[in-house]
Amino acid sequence: MAFDFSDMMEEARISARALKDFSEGLFNPTLRLGITGLSRAGKTVFITALIHGLTRGGRFPVFEPLASGRIARAYLAPQPDDAVPRFDYERHVRTLIDERAWPNSTVDISELRLVIDYQRQNGTERTLTLDIVDYPGEWLLDLPLLNKSYEQWSSESLALSRGNARAALAADWHAYISGLDAQAPADEQAALASAKLFTDYLRACRDERFAMSLLPPGRFLMPGNLAGSPALTFAPLDVPGDGNPPDGSLWAMMRRRYQSYKDVVVRPFFRDHFARLDRQVVLVDALAAFNSGPNALFDLESALAGILDCFHIGRGTILNALFRPKIDRILFAATKADHLHHISHDRLEAVLRRAVSRAVMRAEDTGATIDVVALSAVRATREAQVTRSRESLPSILGTPIAGEKADGETFDGNTEVATFPGELPEDPQALFESEAAFSGLANGQGNGTDFRFLRFRPPRLTPEGDNAASLPHIRLDRALQFLIGDRLQ
Ligand code: GDP
Repeated sequence: MAFDFSDMMEEARISARALKDFSEGLFNPTLRLGITGLSRAGKTVFITALIHGLTRGGRFPVFEPLASGRIARAYLAPQPDDAVPRFDYERHVRTLIDERAWPNSTVDISELRLVIDYQRQNGTERTLTLDIVDYPGEWLLDLPLLNKSYEQWSSESLALSRGNARAALAADWHAYISGLDAQAPADEQAALASAKLFTDYLRACRDERFAMSLLPPGRFLMPGNLAGSPALTFAPLDVPGDGNPPDGSLWAMMRRRYQSYKDVVVRPFFRDHFARLDRQVVLVDALAAFNSGPNALFDLESALAGILDCFHIGRGTILNALFRPKIDRILFAATKADHLHHISHDRLEAVLRRAVSRAVMRAEDTGATIDVVALSAVRATREAQVTRSRESLPSILGTPIAGEKADGETFDGNTEVATFPGELPEDPQALFESEAAFSGLANGQGNGTDFRFLRFRPPRLTPEGDNAASLPHIRLDRALQFLIGDRLQ
């Protein structure tokens, strides 16, 4: 592999960092757990529920170290990285439990340190430090840009935007760039206008649920603290994939900014955060993706393949010879399973497993163990059988958020309703093959409202013995067992 100078510098920086992490880890075993997923996938809720369960002794029967009583205590410790915001756990818990409202979502990276004192299976006392790193999945999808020139990225992005479904969303942007001369002198207003139209197009794609894997640069939709900076003021131009810009041209300016985006945004993220992770959870709002039929599933698959490719980047470097490949476990989790009756939980898992296994075949080897789970970090619904027209339907009960609408009714936030969410097909393959398989998922009330997309309020906690404050969940314990169970043996 050919390295340019900046790659070599980057290698040196990453090695120094890894050496420091490694020597600290000898005295104080630390596991860095990354939590990612696209916007609204459920990261904030997942982390809040996970920390609440670990520190307050949640009901986690499948998480063996806790269930068997070997965890003496788990507590929060000061966040170790001075330059990274702390995950605002206390505020999120208050919102979730006291206000029965969902916390504010992830818009930037944040971190939290949890210390777990436990007894090994042989009886000796040990401590594991768990650093939880929350970051937008949109940023992860920028990593492939490291291997692409501005010209390659431009032509790929343009080709994609000319595809069937996207062309309409890109019309304004296309119209604008068709009037631009890439060779003309650099013009800030042209850069601003095309960056804005390009971002509008990306946003429209996201709202229409097209594959995010194919939508970098991630900061255009999730700018974090960089909103409005020149590193974000560029866009693709219609230029040859192997061409070179004249000095002082618009093209040269765009190319320079693209380069800065990689230097200022993508590389530091890779070095300071991604390359240091030991394990990774990728949360997926698969139910939302199902909303648009088989195309959305293929999009989900390519998004998963794109994500898996990211885990491959950075391998095969000198680093691996010194330290074992970093990320050794990846968990893909379909969130919000509480929107379905439990009959469909295994089926949801099967659909994700199917999508991931095809993505694994397409992606390069990540060197990590991969697992899949359908879960709900905070279960907002209960189950019931509801009889309608003499048919007994497996239904869910929940309190829709104030202002949610269905059947011409606007909910007040205090009324519990029973809904039939529809069922996923038994054979996951069916969803990948036919539009008809989606019909089982159509709304249960037969009038155009899909209750899977009603947003429910978080549950009311009913004290029960000494488990007074545990948050109900679905399979969060299974996720934990896969992610950290083996490190607590
Ligand atoms: P983020 O953008 O990935 O941080 O997503 P959040 O964790 O903020 O979740 C986005 C929204 O999804 C929340 O506001 C909730 O409405 C919903 N949500 C997340 N997790 C769950 C869950 O376990 N059950 C239910 N019913 N809704 C959830």
